[in-house]
Amino acid sequence: MPIPGHIDPVPVPRRVTPRVDGRVDLLGLSKEDIRTSLADAGMEPKQAKLRGKQLWHWIYNRGATDFTAMTDIAKAQHPWLEKRFVISRPEVIEAQVSEDGTRKWLLRSDANDGQGAQDYEMVFIPDADRGTLCVSSQVGCTLNCRFCHTGTMRLVRNLTPGEIVGQVMLARDSLGEWPSTPEGRMLTNIVMMGMGEPLYNFDAVRDALRIVMDGDGLALSKRRITLSTSGVVPMMARAGEEIGVNLAVSLHAVTKEVRDEIVPINRKYGIEELLQACADYPGANNARRITFEYVMLKDKNDSDEDARELVRLIRKYRLPAKVNLIPFNPWPGAPYECSAPDRIRAFSNIVFEGGISAPVRTPRGRDIDAACGQLKTAAEKKSRAELDRLAEEKMAALG
Ligand code: SAH
Ligand code: SF4
Repeated sequence: MPIPGHIDPVPVPRRVTPRVDGRVDLLGLSKEDIRTSLADAGMEPKQAKLRGKQLWHWIYNRGATDFTAMTDIAKAQHPWLEKRFVISRPEVIEAQVSEDGTRKWLLRSDANDGQGAQDYEMVFIPDADRGTLCVSSQVGCTLNCRFCHTGTMRLVRNLTPGEIVGQVMLARDSLGEWPSTPEGRMLTNIVMMGMGEPLYNFDAVRDALRIVMDGDGLALSKRRITLSTSGVVPMMARAGEEIGVNLAVSLHAVTKEVRDEIVPINRKYGIEELLQACADYPGANNARRITFEYVMLKDKNDSDEDARELVRLIRKYRLPAKVNLIPFNPWPGAPYECSAPDRIRAFSNIVFEGGISAPVRTPRGRDIDAACGQLKTAAEKKSRAELDRLAEEKMAALG
């Protein structure tokens, strides 16, 4: 019999699975999971609580990967920890630097985690006043936006919280930004805009971002984190409530016909539904606007009429919005061309005149295929027919 007014505590799900070598990777575990893992390994609960706290500090504030460096943990305990635990990093397969300073890393998941080794990418974009890390949430993407290279990858797998937070750790390692201090750091912002659709890997993305935002560790403010979605409407409210970061939406078109073609998830969740979910997004206000990403495709979505319709839609839903115009970044076999610079300017002006900020994003790292939508590992070239077949398959899977 349920007791009226009584709410059962939500059980903490056990997500801790040891690696193939039997050890548990602490990277990506919540504080709670670190503590229970220590206790499960036989550590006395009170000590597990203290050690858990110390480990958290060493891992996320100091960037330690080696237990022997942890000076406030008794030396005698180091071998005990080493035998049972590791603090991993994604393996770096290749690191490239663009002529504009953008850096791209090809990473490989740890084959020891039992999921098999797979490759994914992350990108760091330095600017005068900030440094932005573009983080992947999946290997590949189950969706197939027609202008996006990642969408042409057949193999897809979700990244684990450890692999997602691992990208941030690796960037900090390579920038030499340990210990973690809020002042003067190069890595100031995170965008979930790498490979994959973050709202199709919601739990892992949420758990990873909670670690990134934790004040005792990496301590990045939610105001400096942006999650971009192609429009997974049913997950947007939860993203606002459970993560609370800034929202970016890959709108890219203002009519059903065009958006159905270029962002196929639109056939499942249409524009009006998507904009309503934006209007309902918790935490969106004039100080924290929703960003609408809009890729500029020649003769596809770039007319004056499209720009006016964009203004009308944003006004209709009274959205605190800004528009980010992204010049299309080409890739081998892509079926579109980028709009001409004066077309992009004209589009931007119309949106500006409608009272909505609409800057044009400067492409970064194009020379190393690090720009928006160019990420793709194992760059085998597919024929038009193969690309079309893949698009069909992914559409069918979308239901
Ligand atoms: N899957 C999420 C996160 C990726 S963010 C999403 O789609 O929102 C990457 C951004 O770059 C998205 O707005 C995406 O639509 C855009 N993009 C993809 N391919 C592109 C290309 N070739 N040129 C410019 N922008 C592109
Ligand atoms: Fe996936 Fe985003 Fe690329 Fe679309 S744009 S295929 S959702 S990564």
